[in-house]
Amino acid sequence: LFLCFEGGEGAGKSTQARLLRDWLGSRGHTVVLTFEPGDTEVGKELRRIVLDPATGDLSPRTELLLYAADKAEHVRRVVRPALERGEVVITDRYVDSSLAYQGAGRTLDGAEVEWVQRWATADLRPHLTVVLDVAPEAGLGRFEERDRIEAESTEFHDRARQAFLDLAARDPEHYLVLDARAAVEDIAAAVRARVEPLLGR
Ligand code: C5P
Repeated sequence: LFLCFEGGEGAGKSTQARLLRDWLGSRGHTVVLTFEPGDTEVGKELRRIVLDPATGDLSPRTELLLYAADKAEHVRRVVRPALERGEVVITDRYVDSSLAYQGAGRTLDGAEVEWVQRWATADLRPHLTVVLDVAPEAGLGRFEERDRIEAESTEFHDRARQAFLDLAARDPEHYLVLDARAAVEDIAAAVRARVEPLLGR
């Protein structure tokens, strides 16, 4: 079973991913909790390049390809092997982050960005993506130090937010959208309710 958390900065994805991991673990499932970008050896280097403010401007196409390289490595070395072992994989960000940030955010052609993602991941798709929806002003407000992407304009983050919502609206069977302002435990309960019927995949 392949599960994914998506959403804007400061939405609480990592907290919810951990809570879900703990719950699944307590029910006897072996769970791999992972994230993008940066959860492989090469990915760590790629993460540093794309997020370090010292990198400065990157051409949007370069940025897209660096994230795609991180994904290719992530799927090949972490996600697919765990799924093949029959484990549950929870990833904090995946393809939709690229559609939202490199596609909608950088205004690259959506169909082209999608094709690159599908290719990089050999079209591996999550059974469920949970979108934690947060207004950029609310989410970004939580950080004092900003990475290269967090430092982008509110308009950039608004476009990314809308992209997550559009993706979810187009494919409700594979998405759950939750208001990130709700109480942590209420969000976790809503996630569990949606995941429970999927167990066994
Ligand atoms: O989720 P986390 O905060 O670790 O993400 C790191 C940064 O990478 C965030 O600023 C996020 O906006 C950015 N990112 C991105 N494009 C992706 C994935 C993450 O711009 N495809």
